[in-house]
Amino acid sequence: MKPWEKNIRRVTPYTPGEQPKDKNIIKLNTNENPYEPSPKVAEKYREIQDLRLYPDPKVEELIHALAVYHGLEDNQVFVGVGSDDVIAMSFLTFFNGELPVCFPDISYSFYDVWADLYKIPYTVKPLDEDFRIRVKDYEEKNGGVIFPNPNAPTGICENLEFVRQMLAENQDVVVIVDEAYIDFGGESALSLLDEYENLLVIRTFSKSRSLAGLRIGYAMGNSALIHALNAVKHSYNSYTMSRPAILLGVASVEDDAYFKETNRKIIETREWFSKELDRLGFTYPKSGANFVFATHKYLPAKEIFEKAKAAGIYVRYFDKPRIDNYLRITIGTKEQMEKLVKFLETLCTSVDGSVM
Ligand code: PMP
Repeated sequence: MKPWEKNIRRVTPYTPGEQPKDKNIIKLNTNENPYEPSPKVAEKYREIQDLRLYPDPKVEELIHALAVYHGLEDNQVFVGVGSDDVIAMSFLTFFNGELPVCFPDISYSFYDVWADLYKIPYTVKPLDEDFRIRVKDYEEKNGGVIFPNPNAPTGICENLEFVRQMLAENQDVVVIVDEAYIDFGGESALSLLDEYENLLVIRTFSKSRSLAGLRIGYAMGNSALIHALNAVKHSYNSYTMSRPAILLGVASVEDDAYFKETNRKIIETREWFSKELDRLGFTYPKSGANFVFATHKYLPAKEIFEKAKAAGIYVRYFDKPRIDNYLRITIGTKEQMEKLVKFLETLCTSVDGSVM
């Protein structure tokens, strides 16, 4: 090893889902929204101008739109380049204690990557046998807590009482609730912001707002937390949000009717698809997200994953302990899901014609 090589930061990076080039693929592997963003976003797209100028480093317009939307003050909102950026900034800002930060073992697989990157000690807490988070695991002294609600990739959504208990047990550290999927029917922790000054709620435009390609995420919390996040951001890169992201992000927030309608359609399709999965011999935890985490009673998940892929349908498979016989299937349009059901039906039908 060369002397300079010794000083290189060694990390095992996060592995994002595949982004195939072929547009004909039914893409149900990365929890994107199958619907286009609001037509208001497309209209605004034509108005993008002044790209030669730096964007507003304070991102005031977008922050104000989000604050108004959620009934908060502007100083309670922080925005970043997707919630990945916001969560990474939050790790850097809030998790500087000596005690380990806690999160579930089966959860968003980027958490341990950021912890390793920033050399933050952490402990993973195993989900119970039904894939539920156990509050009692988070009762011991720790350096902070983060969990997604609904959890990913399980899709299980915990209620407000659960989040309140988690906060009640962890008042000396920052508790982050990653609400990437909350708009698909879950109960948000936002209503607890007044009660708990150590709560940070993180959201994204990537799922429920159909804007994964634009990269917008945001955090909401006490103004002291938001102030601290901004200080770290401006010590790293002041211009994280591009002019297009600010302009189009505001247009999306302003079209609430479209947002609600597309979410309603996804929830409806999810409920229909879940019943189809029952019929085909799959089991899954009840989903509160835009995906279903399913396992088949006979067919191995890996085999279904590979055969679906060969047939042009991409779903997500994680070759990890406890979940290596599950598939995470994003809810697409009804038409896409019908094609998937047809494919699964053929696969699950045994030689004598009965569904396995
Ligand atoms: N949190 C969770 C739980 C996720 O599944 C994802 C999507 N990969 C993210 C955060 C990050 O999403 P984005 O950076 O697109 O906002």
